[in-house]
Amino acid sequence: MKKQFKAESKRLLDLMINSIYTNKEIFMRELISNASDAMDKLYYNSLTDQNIKVSRDDLKIRIDVDKDNKTLTITDNGIGMSEDELENNLGTIAKSGSLSFKQENEDKEDVDIIGQFGVGFYSVFMVSKEIEVLSKAIGSGKAYLWKSSGEDGYTIEGANKDTFGTVITLHLKDDDDDFKYSEYLEEYKIRSIIKKYSDYIRYPIIMEVENRVLKEGSENEYETTHEDATLNSMVPIWKKDKKDVTEEDYNNFYSDKFYDYEKPMKVINSKVEGQCSYDALLFIPSHAPYDFYTKEYEKGLQLYSNGVLIQDKCSDLLPDYFNFVKGIVDTPDLSLNISREMLQHDKNLGIIAKSIENKIKNELTNMLEKNREEYIKFFKTFGMQLKFGIYNNYGMDKDKLKELVLFYSSDKKELVTLKEYVTNMKKDQDTIYYANGETVDKIDLLPQVELVKDKGFEILYLTEYMDEFAIQSLMEYDGKKFINVCSKDLNLNSEEENKKVEKLNKDHEDLFKIMKESLTDNVENVRFTNRLKSHPVCLTTEGDVSVEMEKVFNAMPTDQKIKAKTILEINSEHPIVEKLNNLYKNDKEELKKYTKILYSQARLIEGLTIDNPTEISNLICDIISK
Ligand code: ADP
Repeated sequence: MKKQFKAESKRLLDLMINSIYTNKEIFMRELISNASDAMDKLYYNSLTDQNIKVSRDDLKIRIDVDKDNKTLTITDNGIGMSEDELENNLGTIAKSGSLSFKQENEDKEDVDIIGQFGVGFYSVFMVSKEIEVLSKAIGSGKAYLWKSSGEDGYTIEGANKDTFGTVITLHLKDDDDDFKYSEYLEEYKIRSIIKKYSDYIRYPIIMEVENRVLKEGSENEYETTHEDATLNSMVPIWKKDKKDVTEEDYNNFYSDKFYDYEKPMKVINSKVEGQCSYDALLFIPSHAPYDFYTKEYEKGLQLYSNGVLIQDKCSDLLPDYFNFVKGIVDTPDLSLNISREMLQHDKNLGIIAKSIENKIKNELTNMLEKNREEYIKFFKTFGMQLKFGIYNNYGMDKDKLKELVLFYSSDKKELVTLKEYVTNMKKDQDTIYYANGETVDKIDLLPQVELVKDKGFEILYLTEYMDEFAIQSLMEYDGKKFINVCSKDLNLNSEEENKKVEKLNKDHEDLFKIMKESLTDNVENVRFTNRLKSHPVCLTTEGDVSVEMEKVFNAMPTDQKIKAKTILEINSEHPIVEKLNNLYKNDKEELKKYTKILYSQARLIEGLTIDNPTEISNLICDIISK
């Protein structure tokens, strides 16, 4: 019975069948990497399942060509597929990300990305008119044959096969004016494709090749003999000498392995020998993966032991704040007969993780020092992770990360490190000033920022929600405390000036009492300040919760709302003071209205919402129409 491909697979299939894509040859890479994966899985299972007996030496990939029938066959003795697996793995696009990739790039039809990204098994449709997959799954007594010639669906039927594994036969398309498909049957072509994409595959890829040798006893007569040859060097890319690997090799390996169509920003190749030896090939992606901010995203590095895959995403190898790093680690120093749970307690794994963390950190420090532009690009993409790392785990890792974070500087008008800020501090300055807001422009307009800038101090502008949490975890840098320009005790004025406001505040206690009454519980206090230059009012906070943190907390999906302890401060030099004094004397009801308006103004400037917009707008209208 003919079955139809699932709708989304059908679209990808159409794209493949009608592809004019020039790198059609990548189908070979896809088949070989599937075969290699299948053997990895088999070997992995054999480590924990007594019933499966495999020797690594027996695992091979074979390529056979039949020039008369124009077929190309790829055989593996890996884990094989059951009837269900044939149905599910080949009838639908695998989880490999191909689909989401397709959705993201819906409008760019025959994109180059096909080659770099890999669309898996379906790429065979670029070169074949008919495909047969004969497979027998390990532990099953039955084999099945899956057949398809493309758009009209596929069939699955019982079949005969003695050994476990999979045989994939491609009936190549006929040559036409545009493309010579039969070239894929030529030894030189196959050799070059394997060399290019699959050289590092750790299982031998074997093909029968022709040799011309001198006839025995003859000096000039040749005969053709046939023998099996291994086409790949089997040395994984991370084991190769750096000088033998080009940047393009690394990039190809990365996009093939980690399904990224963009080149990585940084390749880190590290070989460590000693008490615990390992090779690591790590990549910092140039953009966040599409699922990076979802809970589906899993951090981790691929873990190999002597070239054998042990775990696809070993999360213990990466701290959360470096969760964006992709790559592989290969070590001979793990015992293989251990389950994944036990792996977590392997002492050597911890040592390797520590060393990898240092390696990444050094690489980032280096980038920051030597290539600022690149680092800024990195930081804009993944900096949030580093700031989160400072805050997370009760600030346990803050010292490791504090030199790597950047904040926008009011002075330099670009991102600076904390060290740069401190170096730039004024002689008598003993605190690091910062201000919060949605954007740099909005912070620039905050009334509290004005005076601090006016006194010649640099301010760090925090625009991301994680920023202030990180700053508060740090508490200080180089002995200098962080202080929010909106906090109560910002001692910027002289003793004398302070005394003056203090007195003013004392003299106006009754006025403030009435003003506070009209604002009920919204503010802790109302008072005059000398921290404002041109603005009439601002809100300052007391205690640990700033206005910005109030916003972050309250945006979270919990019922518990928190409130920053705010104080309404009025510019003691502003003409509004006289007005308030007059109202206090002559019209206390009017004074309450003015207070409400001033408070709303202060909230709006902070980027906060107001609870009673209709009331406020009526009050304003009331006053201006007088
Ligand atoms: P991907 O390899 O990216 O998951 P593919 O479309 O290439 O996507 O393959 C889909 C799935 O089919 C694989 O994940 C694997 O489970 C299965 N598969 C493909 N080829 C083989 C094979 N030779 N042996 C066993 N399983 C295979």
